[in-house]
Amino acid sequence: MTTDRSKSRQAGPNTLLAHGPYDPRSMHGFVNPPVIHASTVLFESTDAMKNRKSLPYTYGLRGTPTTSVLEDALSELENAHGTILVPSGLAAISIPLFAFLGAGDHCLIVDSVYSPTRQFANGTLARMGVEIEYFDPHVGSGIAALMKPSTKVVFLEAPGSNTFEMMDVKAVCEAAHAGGAVTMLDNTWATPLYFRPLEHGVDLSIHALTKYPGGHSDVMMGSVSATEATFKQLRETQLQIGVNAAPDDTYLVIRGLKTMGIRLERHQASALELATWLEAREEVAEVRHPALPSFFDRTLYERQFTGSSGLFSFLLPGSFRRAAAFLDALELIGLGYSWGGHESLAVAVDLSDRTIARGPADGTFIRLQVGLEDVADLKADLERGFTAARQAG
Ligand SMILES: *Cc1c(COP(=O)(O)O)cnc(C)c1O
Repeated sequence: MTTDRSKSRQAGPNTLLAHGPYDPRSMHGFVNPPVIHASTVLFESTDAMKNRKSLPYTYGLRGTPTTSVLEDALSELENAHGTILVPSGLAAISIPLFAFLGAGDHCLIVDSVYSPTRQFANGTLARMGVEIEYFDPHVGSGIAALMKPSTKVVFLEAPGSNTFEMMDVKAVCEAAHAGGAVTMLDNTWATPLYFRPLEHGVDLSIHALTKYPGGHSDVMMGSVSATEATFKQLRETQLQIGVNAAPDDTYLVIRGLKTMGIRLERHQASALELATWLEAREEVAEVRHPALPSFFDRTLYERQFTGSSGLFSFLLPGSFRRAAAFLDALELIGLGYSWGGHESLAVAVDLSDRTIARGPADGTFIRLQVGLEDVADLKADLERGFTAARQAG
Protein backbone atom coordinates (compact mmCIF):
# COMPACT_ATOMS: atom_id res chain seq x y z
CA MET A 1 0.00 0.00 0.00
CA THR A 2 1.80 3.10 -1.16
CA THR A 3 1.24 6.48 0.30
CA ASP A 4 1.29 9.66 -1.71
CA ARG A 5 2.86 12.38 0.35
CA SER A 6 3.46 14.92 -2.39
CA LYS A 7 -0.25 15.31 -3.15
CA SER A 8 -1.21 17.00 0.06
CA ARG A 9 2.01 18.52 1.37
CA GLN A 10 0.85 22.07 0.67
CA ALA A 11 -2.73 21.45 1.78
CA GLY A 12 -4.49 22.94 4.81
CA PRO A 13 -4.87 20.97 8.06
CA ASN A 14 -8.44 19.81 7.48
CA THR A 15 -7.55 18.63 3.98
CA LEU A 16 -4.59 16.71 5.45
CA LEU A 17 -6.94 15.12 7.99
CA ALA A 18 -9.59 14.24 5.42
CA HIS A 19 -7.16 12.78 2.88
CA GLY A 20 -3.90 12.09 4.68
CA PRO A 21 -0.99 10.50 2.90
CA TYR A 22 -2.94 7.25 2.31
CA ASP A 23 -3.76 6.83 -1.37
CA PRO A 24 -7.03 4.90 -2.05
CA ARG A 25 -5.74 4.01 -5.53
CA SER A 26 -3.21 1.75 -3.85
CA MET A 27 -6.11 -0.30 -2.41
CA HIS A 28 -8.42 -0.66 -5.46
CA GLY A 29 -10.03 2.72 -4.72
CA PHE A 30 -11.38 1.87 -1.27
CA VAL A 31 -11.59 5.16 0.58
CA ASN A 32 -10.30 3.79 3.90
CA PRO A 33 -7.28 1.57 4.53
CA PRO A 34 -7.75 -2.11 5.40
CA VAL A 35 -7.30 -3.34 8.99
CA ILE A 36 -4.50 -5.89 8.85
CA HIS A 37 -4.35 -8.38 11.71
CA ALA A 38 -0.96 -9.99 11.62
CA SER A 39 1.87 -11.75 13.33
CA THR A 40 3.58 -13.78 10.56
CA VAL A 41 4.64 -12.27 7.27
CA LEU A 42 5.64 -14.84 4.59
CA PHE A 43 8.85 -14.42 2.62
CA GLU A 44 9.54 -15.38 -0.99
CA SER A 45 12.75 -17.28 -0.18
CA THR A 46 15.51 -17.79 2.38
CA ASP A 47 17.38 -15.12 0.49
CA ALA A 48 14.51 -12.66 0.99
CA MET A 49 14.48 -13.61 4.68
CA LYS A 50 18.19 -12.98 4.98
CA ASN A 51 17.83 -9.57 3.33
CA ARG A 52 14.60 -8.68 5.12
CA LYS A 53 15.93 -5.30 6.22
CA SER A 54 15.11 -4.03 2.73
CA LEU A 55 11.45 -5.14 3.01
CA PRO A 56 8.77 -2.79 4.38
CA TYR A 57 7.08 -5.46 6.52
CA THR A 58 8.63 -8.52 8.17
CA TYR A 59 6.62 -9.27 11.33
CA GLY A 60 3.39 -8.01 12.89
CA LEU A 61 5.11 -6.42 15.87
CA ARG A 62 7.29 -4.34 13.58
CA GLY A 63 4.34 -2.69 11.83
CA THR A 64 1.73 -3.34 9.17
CA PRO A 65 0.26 -1.34 6.28
CA THR A 66 -2.45 -0.27 8.79
CA THR A 67 -0.01 1.17 11.33
CA SER A 68 1.95 2.81 8.49
CA VAL A 69 -1.12 4.80 7.47
CA LEU A 70 -1.48 6.32 10.92
CA GLU A 71 2.27 6.84 11.38
CA ASP A 72 2.49 8.64 8.04
CA ALA A 73 -0.56 10.79 8.79
CA LEU A 74 0.93 11.90 12.11
CA SER A 75 4.37 12.52 10.60
CA GLU A 76 2.73 14.74 8.01
CA LEU A 77 0.77 16.69 10.65
CA GLU A 78 3.82 17.08 12.91
CA ASN A 79 6.24 17.75 10.05
CA ALA A 80 8.32 14.86 11.43
CA HIS A 81 10.74 12.40 9.87
CA GLY A 82 8.94 9.43 11.44
CA THR A 83 6.36 8.39 14.02
CA ILE A 84 6.00 5.37 16.29
CA LEU A 85 2.70 4.12 17.73
CA VAL A 86 2.37 2.60 21.18
CA PRO A 87 -0.59 1.27 23.22
CA SER A 88 -1.10 4.36 25.43
CA GLY A 89 -0.13 7.98 25.83
CA LEU A 90 1.90 7.03 28.87
CA ALA A 91 3.92 4.50 26.83
CA ALA A 92 4.58 7.35 24.37
CA ILE A 93 6.29 9.10 27.30
CA SER A 94 8.17 6.16 28.83
CA ILE A 95 9.57 4.74 25.58
CA PRO A 96 11.39 7.87 24.34
CA LEU A 97 12.73 8.40 27.88
CA PHE A 98 14.02 4.79 27.83
CA ALA A 99 15.49 5.45 24.39
CA PHE A 100 17.63 8.42 25.39
CA LEU A 101 18.50 7.83 29.07
CA GLY A 102 20.77 5.44 30.90
CA ALA A 103 22.50 5.02 34.27
CA GLY A 104 24.36 8.15 35.35
CA ASP A 105 22.43 10.49 33.04
CA HIS A 106 20.62 13.61 34.22
CA CYS A 107 17.08 14.37 33.06
CA LEU A 108 15.34 17.75 33.40
CA ILE A 109 11.52 17.66 33.54
CA VAL A 110 9.08 20.57 33.71
CA ASP A 111 7.40 20.67 37.13
CA SER A 112 3.89 21.12 35.66
CA VAL A 113 4.19 17.74 33.95
CA TYR A 114 1.42 15.13 33.67
CA SER A 115 1.56 13.25 37.01
CA PRO A 116 2.17 9.74 35.62
CA THR A 117 5.24 11.12 33.77
CA ARG A 118 6.62 12.18 37.15
CA GLN A 119 5.79 8.77 38.62
CA PHE A 120 7.66 7.01 35.79
CA ALA A 121 10.66 9.31 36.24
CA ASN A 122 10.76 9.08 40.04
CA GLY A 123 10.11 5.33 39.93
CA THR A 124 11.56 3.44 36.98
CA LEU A 125 14.05 6.03 35.71
CA ALA A 126 15.42 6.72 39.20
CA ARG A 127 15.77 2.95 39.77
CA MET A 128 17.73 2.73 36.49
CA GLY A 129 20.17 5.25 37.94
CA VAL A 130 18.92 8.37 36.14
CA GLU A 131 19.14 11.62 38.10
CA ILE A 132 15.79 13.48 37.85
CA GLU A 133 15.42 17.23 38.34
CA TYR A 134 12.29 19.36 37.93
CA PHE A 135 12.30 22.93 36.60
CA ASP A 136 9.95 25.90 36.63
CA PRO A 137 7.72 26.03 33.51
CA HIS A 138 8.71 29.70 33.13
CA VAL A 139 12.46 28.93 33.11
CA GLY A 140 12.94 29.94 29.44
CA SER A 141 16.59 30.22 28.42
CA GLY A 142 17.43 30.02 32.15
CA ILE A 143 17.40 26.24 31.63
CA ALA A 144 21.05 26.71 30.59
CA ALA A 145 21.98 27.17 34.27
CA LEU A 146 20.45 23.76 35.10
CA MET A 147 22.25 21.85 32.37
CA LYS A 148 25.03 19.47 33.41
CA PRO A 149 27.50 17.58 31.23
CA SER A 150 25.36 14.50 31.99
CA THR A 151 22.04 16.10 30.96
CA LYS A 152 20.73 13.92 28.14
CA VAL A 153 17.01 14.81 28.05
CA VAL A 154 14.94 17.94 28.69
CA PHE A 155 11.26 17.04 28.91
CA LEU A 156 8.60 19.71 28.29
CA GLU A 157 4.85 19.86 28.38
CA ALA A 158 2.90 22.89 27.17
CA PRO A 159 0.58 23.96 28.51
CA GLY A 160 1.27 22.34 31.89
CA SER A 161 -1.09 19.58 33.00
CA ASN A 162 -4.03 20.97 35.00
CA THR A 163 -2.41 24.36 35.71
CA PHE A 164 -1.80 25.37 32.06
CA GLU A 165 1.50 27.27 32.38
CA MET A 166 2.90 28.03 28.94
CA MET A 167 6.57 27.61 28.09
CA ASP A 168 8.95 29.43 25.79
CA VAL A 169 9.63 26.26 23.83
CA LYS A 170 12.25 27.60 21.46
CA ALA A 171 14.29 29.24 24.25
CA VAL A 172 14.33 26.03 26.31
CA CYS A 173 15.17 23.84 23.30
CA GLU A 174 18.02 26.08 22.13
CA ALA A 175 19.67 26.01 25.55
CA ALA A 176 19.06 22.25 25.85
CA HIS A 177 20.63 21.59 22.46
CA ALA A 178 23.60 23.83 23.27
CA GLY A 179 24.20 21.51 26.24
CA GLY A 180 23.89 18.40 24.08
CA ALA A 181 20.48 17.18 25.31
CA VAL A 182 17.55 15.79 23.36
CA THR A 183 14.22 17.62 23.84
CA MET A 184 10.78 15.99 24.15
CA LEU A 185 7.42 17.71 24.48
CA ASP A 186 4.05 16.26 25.48
CA ASN A 187 1.83 17.96 22.86
CA THR A 188 -1.45 16.24 23.79
CA TRP A 189 -3.40 19.41 24.71
CA ALA A 190 -2.87 21.32 21.47
CA THR A 191 -2.74 18.41 18.98
CA PRO A 192 -0.55 19.01 15.90
CA LEU A 193 -3.31 21.27 14.55
CA TYR A 194 -2.66 23.99 17.13
CA PHE A 195 1.03 23.48 17.89
CA ARG A 196 3.86 21.87 15.92
CA PRO A 197 6.73 21.34 18.38
CA LEU A 198 9.36 20.24 15.85
CA GLU A 199 9.12 23.68 14.25
CA HIS A 200 10.10 25.19 17.63
CA GLY A 201 13.20 23.06 18.15
CA VAL A 202 11.68 20.01 19.86
CA ASP A 203 13.18 16.66 18.80
CA LEU A 204 10.35 14.34 19.84
CA SER A 205 6.66 15.30 19.96
CA ILE A 206 4.49 13.08 22.15
CA HIS A 207 0.73 12.50 21.95
CA ALA A 208 -1.87 10.65 23.90
CA LEU A 209 -3.91 9.66 20.82
CA THR A 210 -6.42 8.50 23.43
CA LYS A 211 -7.54 12.14 23.64
CA TYR A 212 -8.59 14.24 20.59
CA PRO A 213 -7.28 11.98 17.80
CA GLY A 214 -9.36 9.04 19.14
CA GLY A 215 -12.00 11.50 20.21
CA HIS A 216 -14.69 9.12 21.45
CA SER A 217 -13.41 7.76 24.80
CA ASP A 218 -13.17 4.25 23.37
CA VAL A 219 -9.53 3.73 22.50
CA MET A 220 -6.09 4.08 24.10
CA MET A 221 -3.00 4.81 22.06
CA GLY A 222 0.04 7.05 21.96
CA SER A 223 2.51 8.33 19.38
CA VAL A 224 5.96 9.85 19.22
CA SER A 225 6.93 11.86 16.15
CA ALA A 226 10.63 12.49 15.75
CA THR A 227 13.30 14.34 13.80
CA GLU A 228 15.57 12.46 11.42
CA ALA A 229 18.43 12.58 13.95
CA THR A 230 16.40 10.97 16.75
CA PHE A 231 14.04 8.62 14.92
CA LYS A 232 16.31 5.58 14.55
CA GLN A 233 17.09 5.37 18.26
CA LEU A 234 13.40 5.78 19.08
CA ARG A 235 12.24 3.05 16.66
CA GLU A 236 14.93 0.62 17.82
CA THR A 237 13.95 1.09 21.47
CA GLN A 238 10.26 0.60 20.67
CA LEU A 239 11.01 -2.68 18.91
CA GLN A 240 13.46 -3.85 21.57
CA ILE A 241 10.80 -3.29 24.23
CA GLY A 242 8.27 -5.00 21.98
CA VAL A 243 5.25 -2.73 21.78
CA ASN A 244 3.25 -1.46 18.86
CA ALA A 245 -0.36 -0.42 18.27
CA ALA A 246 -3.10 -3.02 17.76
CA PRO A 247 -4.83 -3.05 14.35
CA ASP A 248 -8.44 -2.29 15.37
CA ASP A 249 -7.33 0.47 17.73
CA THR A 250 -5.17 1.95 14.98
CA TYR A 251 -8.18 1.99 12.70
CA LEU A 252 -10.28 3.81 15.31
CA VAL A 253 -7.64 6.54 15.57
CA ILE A 254 -7.33 6.78 11.74
CA ARG A 255 -11.09 7.29 11.67
CA GLY A 256 -11.01 9.76 14.57
CA LEU A 257 -8.43 11.92 12.78
CA LYS A 258 -10.85 12.51 9.90
CA THR A 259 -13.12 14.63 12.11
CA MET A 260 -10.55 15.96 14.59
CA GLY A 261 -10.36 19.40 12.97
CA ILE A 262 -14.07 20.14 13.15
CA ARG A 263 -14.40 18.55 16.59
CA LEU A 264 -11.59 20.74 17.89
CA GLU A 265 -13.24 23.88 16.51
CA ARG A 266 -16.32 23.04 18.57
CA HIS A 267 -14.31 22.04 21.68
CA GLN A 268 -12.40 25.31 21.36
CA ALA A 269 -15.46 27.54 20.94
CA SER A 270 -17.46 25.89 23.74
CA ALA A 271 -14.53 25.89 26.17
CA LEU A 272 -13.81 29.58 25.53
CA GLU A 273 -17.47 30.45 26.02
CA LEU A 274 -17.59 28.55 29.32
CA ALA A 275 -14.24 29.95 30.49
CA THR A 276 -15.46 33.50 29.85
CA TRP A 277 -18.75 32.76 31.60
CA LEU A 278 -16.96 31.23 34.61
CA GLU A 279 -14.55 34.17 34.85
CA ALA A 280 -17.48 36.56 35.28
CA ARG A 281 -18.90 34.62 38.23
CA GLU A 282 -18.18 35.81 41.73
CA GLU A 283 -17.87 32.21 43.02
CA VAL A 284 -14.78 31.66 40.82
CA ALA A 285 -11.39 32.96 41.99
CA GLU A 286 -9.42 32.30 38.77
CA VAL A 287 -9.82 30.69 35.37
CA ARG A 288 -6.78 28.98 33.83
CA HIS A 289 -7.34 28.96 30.09
CA PRO A 290 -4.38 29.87 27.84
CA ALA A 291 -6.52 31.77 25.30
CA LEU A 292 -8.33 34.01 27.83
CA PRO A 293 -7.12 37.65 27.63
CA SER A 294 -6.62 37.60 31.43
CA PHE A 295 -4.40 34.48 31.38
CA PHE A 296 -0.92 35.11 32.80
CA ASP A 297 0.84 33.33 29.91
CA ARG A 298 -1.40 34.64 27.15
CA THR A 299 1.56 36.21 25.29
CA LEU A 300 3.48 32.92 25.20
CA TYR A 301 0.31 31.17 24.05
CA GLU A 302 -0.36 33.64 21.22
CA ARG A 303 3.20 33.63 19.98
CA GLN A 304 3.43 29.85 19.64
CA PHE A 305 -0.03 28.29 19.36
CA THR A 306 -2.66 28.67 16.66
CA GLY A 307 -5.63 27.53 18.72
CA SER A 308 -6.83 26.20 22.06
CA SER A 309 -8.61 22.97 22.86
CA GLY A 310 -11.39 22.05 25.27
CA LEU A 311 -9.48 21.50 28.50
CA PHE A 312 -9.03 24.19 31.16
CA SER A 313 -9.45 24.65 34.89
CA PHE A 314 -10.90 27.13 37.36
CA LEU A 315 -10.27 27.77 41.02
CA LEU A 316 -13.15 27.31 43.43
CA PRO A 317 -12.23 28.96 46.75
CA GLY A 318 -12.88 27.29 50.10
CA SER A 319 -12.62 23.77 51.42
CA PHE A 320 -12.28 20.58 49.41
CA ARG A 321 -15.75 19.69 50.75
CA ARG A 322 -17.17 22.62 48.73
CA ALA A 323 -15.40 21.40 45.57
CA ALA A 324 -16.71 17.88 46.19
CA ALA A 325 -20.27 19.24 46.63
CA PHE A 326 -19.89 21.12 43.33
CA LEU A 327 -18.69 18.03 41.48
CA ASP A 328 -21.19 15.62 43.03
CA ALA A 329 -24.12 17.88 41.99
CA LEU A 330 -23.21 17.67 38.28
CA GLU A 331 -25.66 15.54 36.30
CA LEU A 332 -24.56 15.96 32.69
CA ILE A 333 -20.82 16.46 33.19
CA GLY A 334 -19.26 13.16 34.26
CA LEU A 335 -16.62 12.64 36.92
CA GLY A 336 -13.79 10.84 35.22
CA TYR A 337 -10.20 10.86 34.03
CA SER A 338 -8.94 11.35 30.54
CA TRP A 339 -10.37 13.86 28.06
CA GLY A 340 -10.71 14.68 24.37
CA GLY A 341 -13.91 12.68 23.89
CA HIS A 342 -17.36 13.87 22.87
CA GLU A 343 -18.66 14.10 26.44
CA SER A 344 -17.84 16.68 29.11
CA LEU A 345 -15.95 15.68 32.24
CA ALA A 346 -14.82 17.28 35.48
CA VAL A 347 -12.18 16.37 38.07
CA ALA A 348 -10.75 17.98 41.19
CA VAL A 349 -7.08 18.61 40.45
CA ASP A 350 -4.45 17.16 42.79
CA LEU A 351 -1.28 19.25 42.79
CA SER A 352 0.33 17.67 45.85
CA ASP A 353 3.22 16.20 43.82
CA ARG A 354 4.40 19.58 42.50
CA THR A 355 7.78 20.74 43.78
CA ILE A 356 8.04 24.21 42.16
CA ALA A 357 4.75 25.22 40.47
CA ARG A 358 2.75 24.55 43.62
CA GLY A 359 -1.03 24.57 44.10
CA PRO A 360 -3.17 27.45 45.37
CA ALA A 361 -3.11 28.58 49.01
CA ASP A 362 -6.90 28.48 49.17
CA GLY A 363 -9.39 26.45 47.18
CA THR A 364 -9.41 23.63 44.64
CA PHE A 365 -8.75 23.73 40.91
CA ILE A 366 -11.53 21.98 39.02
CA ARG A 367 -10.52 20.80 35.55
CA LEU A 368 -13.18 20.76 32.87
CA GLN A 369 -13.03 18.76 29.65
CA VAL A 370 -15.60 20.51 27.51
CA GLY A 371 -17.26 18.06 25.14
CA LEU A 372 -19.51 18.49 22.13
CA GLU A 373 -22.80 19.09 24.00
CA ASP A 374 -24.80 22.32 23.75
CA VAL A 375 -23.17 24.99 25.89
CA ALA A 376 -26.49 26.06 27.42
CA ASP A 377 -26.91 22.58 28.90
CA LEU A 378 -23.37 22.62 30.28
CA LYS A 379 -23.98 26.02 31.90
CA ALA A 380 -27.17 24.72 33.48
CA ASP A 381 -25.22 21.78 34.88
CA LEU A 382 -22.46 24.02 36.26
CA GLU A 383 -25.22 26.16 37.89
CA ARG A 384 -26.28 23.00 39.77
CA GLY A 385 -22.69 22.70 40.95
CA PHE A 386 -22.50 26.32 42.17
CA THR A 387 -25.82 25.96 44.04
CA ALA A 388 -24.52 22.84 45.80
CA ALA A 389 -21.19 24.54 46.62
CA ARG A 390 -23.04 27.51 48.19
CA GLN A 391 -25.10 25.13 50.30
CA ALA A 392 -21.94 23.32 51.42
CA GLY A 393 -20.73 26.62 52.94
C1 LIG B 1 -3.85 11.50 29.25
C2 LIG B 1 -2.52 12.06 29.07
C3 LIG B 1 -1.43 11.24 28.80
C4 LIG B 1 -1.51 9.73 28.82
O1 LIG B 1 -2.39 9.18 27.90
P1 LIG B 1 -3.01 7.72 28.15
O2 LIG B 1 -3.38 7.28 26.78
O3 LIG B 1 -4.17 7.92 29.08
O4 LIG B 1 -1.93 6.86 28.74
C5 LIG B 1 -0.20 11.83 28.57
N1 LIG B 1 -0.06 13.16 28.63
C6 LIG B 1 -1.07 13.99 28.90
C7 LIG B 1 -0.83 15.46 28.96
C8 LIG B 1 -2.33 13.47 29.16
O5 LIG B 1 -3.34 14.29 29.48
